[in-house]
Amino acid sequence: MSPKAAIARLCMAYAPHLRAPASVDPAKVLWALAGCESDFGAAALPRHEAAYCNIGRGRYDVTALTRQWGCAAHCSYGPWQMMFGHLVDFHPLHDALTPAFFIVRPPTTAGDLEYTVMAEHSIRCAVAMLNAVILGRQGATTLAEVAKAWNHGNWRDQFDDSAYTDRAARFYATPFPDGATAPPASQTEVHNAPAPAPPVP
Ligand SMILES: [Zn+2]
Repeated sequence: MSPKAAIARLCMAYAPHLRAPASVDPAKVLWALAGCESDFGAAALPRHEAAYCNIGRGRYDVTALTRQWGCAAHCSYGPWQMMFGHLVDFHPLHDALTPAFFIVRPPTTAGDLEYTVMAEHSIRCAVAMLNAVILGRQGATTLAEVAKAWNHGNWRDQFDDSAYTDRAARFYATPFPDGATAPPASQTEVHNAPAPAPPVP
């Protein structure tokens, strides 16, 4: 499976867990963010973020994680490029989580299980963070608000993030690859995110 096909499959599988407003397609929201962050999973290796580096001098203080992991604590990981501190916060196995788990080359052959497992852990964390912070506490209601918050940290300030949100809109409109279908919903679950309410009879 290509990275793009693996990401498409995960977006469809986890869409029912995303507490997105009715005006957006939740699968395409997850898809658009993966497009912006990693070219749909093709560029999912860690990226070092200078704003998290240099204890006490960076924009963000991750002193405890830095003591434990060094510059690995200042990197973003996986197809959705989440900061390590966020992966720790939103992963059910946060005590056992290591940065190395997310350092997996994109597959070059069909059915690369290691990549698929890494990507699935990544989307679970992404959905949990979107639900708790961006759709929850911050109350984003549009793709542009979600995308800005994902990239910039929040969407309510005056920061112009239109370059990123324009890309997100373009990727949102990018069709899923031919033949990509979601696995059965019963195989997916998300930490801190209850399953959607059953349909009213
Ligand atoms: Zn660093």
